[in-house]
Amino acid sequence: MEQEPLLRVRGLKKVYRPAGQEGGFEVKALDHVDLDILPGEYISIMGPSGSGKSTLMQILGLLDRPSEGLYLLDGNDVSNLSDDDLAQIRSRKLGFIFQFFNLLPRTSCLDNVSLPLVYTGEQDPAPRARELLTQVGLADRLDHKPHQLSGGQQQRVAIARALVNHPKIIFADEPTGNISTQQTEEVLNMLEELNRRGVTIVLVTHEPEVAHHARRSLVLRDGRIAEDKLLRDRTSGALLEGDRAPLAAAAENGHGLWARVRENVRMALVALRLNLLRTSLATLGIVIGIASFVAMMAIGEGAKEAVSDLLSSMGTNLLNIRPVNPRTAKELAGDNFRKFYPEDLEALKVFAQSQPSIAKVDGQIYGYLTASHGSYNTPVEVIGATPAIETMQAFKPVAGRFFTEEENDNQARVVLIGQTVAKNMFGDKNPVGAFLKLNRVDFEIIGLLPPKGSTNNRDRDEMVLLPLKTVLNRIYGRSTLHVLTVEAVSREAMGVAQERLRQWMRDYRQQRPGDQDTFDILNMNDIQEVYNQTTGIISSMLQAISFVSLLVGGTGIMNVMFVSVKERTREVGLRKAVGARRFDILMQFMIESVLICLLGGAFGTLLGWGLSLAASSLLGWKTVFTAGAVATSFLFAFLVGVIFGLWPARQASELAPIEALRYE
Ligand code: ADP
Ligand code: MG
Repeated sequence: MEQEPLLRVRGLKKVYRPAGQEGGFEVKALDHVDLDILPGEYISIMGPSGSGKSTLMQILGLLDRPSEGLYLLDGNDVSNLSDDDLAQIRSRKLGFIFQFFNLLPRTSCLDNVSLPLVYTGEQDPAPRARELLTQVGLADRLDHKPHQLSGGQQQRVAIARALVNHPKIIFADEPTGNISTQQTEEVLNMLEELNRRGVTIVLVTHEPEVAHHARRSLVLRDGRIAEDKLLRDRTSGALLEGDRAPLAAAAENGHGLWARVRENVRMALVALRLNLLRTSLATLGIVIGIASFVAMMAIGEGAKEAVSDLLSSMGTNLLNIRPVNPRTAKELAGDNFRKFYPEDLEALKVFAQSQPSIAKVDGQIYGYLTASHGSYNTPVEVIGATPAIETMQAFKPVAGRFFTEEENDNQARVVLIGQTVAKNMFGDKNPVGAFLKLNRVDFEIIGLLPPKGSTNNRDRDEMVLLPLKTVLNRIYGRSTLHVLTVEAVSREAMGVAQERLRQWMRDYRQQRPGDQDTFDILNMNDIQEVYNQTTGIISSMLQAISFVSLLVGGTGIMNVMFVSVKERTREVGLRKAVGARRFDILMQFMIESVLICLLGGAFGTLLGWGLSLAASSLLGWKTVFTAGAVATSFLFAFLVGVIFGLWPARQASELAPIEALRYE
């Protein structure tokens, strides 16, 4: 019975056209080759240099495509398969041994032999790789790198790698070309043993002694088969468990993904370590970009907190009504100039009761006086207000109590003092119950105010707070207030409250329609706007720096990645030859570029942290470092790595395996 051939080619042609030279000089490397190879054959291909031996082997090994002709592998036509399908077949059915070994440098023997298994999705390739290295007599060299081995030993590693996936066919191109005679024996014995077990072997050589080990000898001349001779039994007789399944078995993407990611991260780290200086320089842009971003976030967050601190120390949802409109004050000066009187406050209180948007009302007078206690004198800010101010502007005393409505009505001689005043006059002693002189009048200290910090370089703890009527009548002997304050029931209600107040004030002052307001209502929320505007300028500057730097940094990374791809063209070819798909190569270089960017991101974050510390100590700005900002900066670094790594990585993934292997 005629045995089905494992390989069958008919009318195979390969023409090389010099790249870029249209219609230029063509090389006919293969010129109409017909060949059948049965399972279990051991065939040698001889011929003068340039006769097309390597070309034939590469086409048979699916590393290259023919220009013309039919090729059936295991009965399946391979001409229409995609590059990834070919990679799959290479990794599952074929093994390669090259003249120059083509081991990955800087990679242990164990990892070199494991490589094809990584690309078939094996979770734990090490045991099988160890087994094969033991078979080729290198059990004690598992962790050695190729440069620590002799040529013969390297070739044995390459053989172990070729066998690791239980291939049906081994292609060997001048496998003994670079090793000593004694090592040649060893390698040939190994091939013979494999053939005895049923593995089909295609061996290219120019040495007749080597060719004689085969069962069948082929001689090529000028791209044609010039001789085809049987030296012994055609096949070994042993049969491998053959599967005749369709060749393009569904790629098991995602299978063994972890092993592949680990391999890629490992390679990326090796590459980074080797090119430390180049890599660090390339990350400079990322470092600056991320640093500006982090600093921007810290300053922005700090500003937000500073504003909310300020607002909560001054009270929230407040509307301040001033008696004069600064925009019209000049023309109104004269008989139209109006002030606030205690009865205006009373009228406002009555109006407020009818307004659901208004919660509380207060009126204040401000001034500066010298306060004294014993022999100690100090200038203080004097505030006169109604008891409503306690909750409206967060003046709840930390010791003692607040004054009451009654005390206000009775113009009681009571006072609450700020933290600085207390500290200067009483040190650590409790001031409550002691007396304080203002304008030679004694006031009983009934409470200690909470710390307020300083705003605009003014110490807001250097103050004393008294009932409004006490200040009006006992201290200043005056009857005008500086400001009326209204608290809206909520932030949302502030707009309504402001509009109602405005209408009421116009009516109250009997303003004619069309006239400008003779008063001014200040919305405390506006303060936030003002603050945001100042820090906003710095923030947008940092944002621009950050954006530009990331862009520049990204192109730097892209540049380095292109160099990295170029340098490792051969490596990419080898990986593809042993089964790496496009996605694997893409992922390998993407991981490298992402790792570089994350490294830059880490240094950038540190630098940005330093910058924001400097900003807070030199400029006195509040800066806040949040986990969210750090996470976002790493996300940016990651995205830069992905975006700018994509192009070089794609270029690497599209390299044809044989072009890459030949690359010098
Ligand atoms: P052998 O392995 O028998 O020495 P090859 O198969 O390597 O021969 O080459 C066959 C012919 O094809 C030679 O003339 C060689 O110069 C040519 N050739 C091989 N590869 C290329 C290529 N990539 N571009 C152009 N010509 C090539
Ligand atoms: Mg050759």
